[in-house]
Amino acid sequence: MSNSQYKDFVTCEAAAMAKLNGLWKEEPSDALLMGTYVHAALEGTLEEFKQSCPELFTQKGELRSQFKLAERMYQTISNDRMCMFVLDGQKEVIMTAEFAGCLWKVKLDSYNREGGRFADVKTVKSIRDKYWDKQYGYVSFVEAFGYLRQVALYAEIESRWSGSGEWLEPLIVAVSKEDPPDKQIINVDVSRMSMELEEIEKNMPRILAVKSGLEEPTRCETCKYCRETKQLRHVLHYTELLA
Ligand SMILES: [Zn+2]
Repeated sequence: MSNSQYKDFVTCEAAAMAKLNGLWKEEPSDALLMGTYVHAALEGTLEEFKQSCPELFTQKGELRSQFKLAERMYQTISNDRMCMFVLDGQKEVIMTAEFAGCLWKVKLDSYNREGGRFADVKTVKSIRDKYWDKQYGYVSFVEAFGYLRQVALYAEIESRWSGSGEWLEPLIVAVSKEDPPDKQIINVDVSRMSMELEEIEKNMPRILAVKSGLEEPTRCETCKYCRETKQLRHVLHYTELLA
């Protein structure tokens, strides 16, 4: 399992399985490519990324406006001393460990065991935007996009992989897609991380049963995959629209 595969399963089992079986693929969006651009620049592999990705450029060979902004986002981080301090460490470190009944693979953007921390870079529309969550009401992007779960999982896998038995401090280095970009370094409390891990442990038996074909995947009926493959079978009462 990986964090993104887990996210796929809790979002929509049917789409997750279609992806796994190679029956469906989500096209990489500009938003995703902007994130990859900033990561590549911070990691020092920007030239390779540019060469492998012709869609970054106009026909005249100039960076498209979205990626000029991605360049500014990278500059925003690299010109900030605290951001660069937090991101100091080994880049893109892959780790694997057993957790919640299966093997997980994670990739840490920046790993600094001596410094007692790891950091993950997030590119977001706006750092202060509010998102509506059915369970919690208004939440920040960190909760809305499952980033608390991601850092909790990374801390747990790192502790198992390194054998330390304790969590490093996770830090999120966020940079916004505003012009000029905003930036913030964000931390997470340990009790919320424990809750996130309990949630994963609770969900894994079902996910593993679906993944191995023992149980049928459920369709969410709202994601891209479900919209593309939907066949209506009943009429919906209007009060169910926001349920
Ligand atoms: Zn779906």
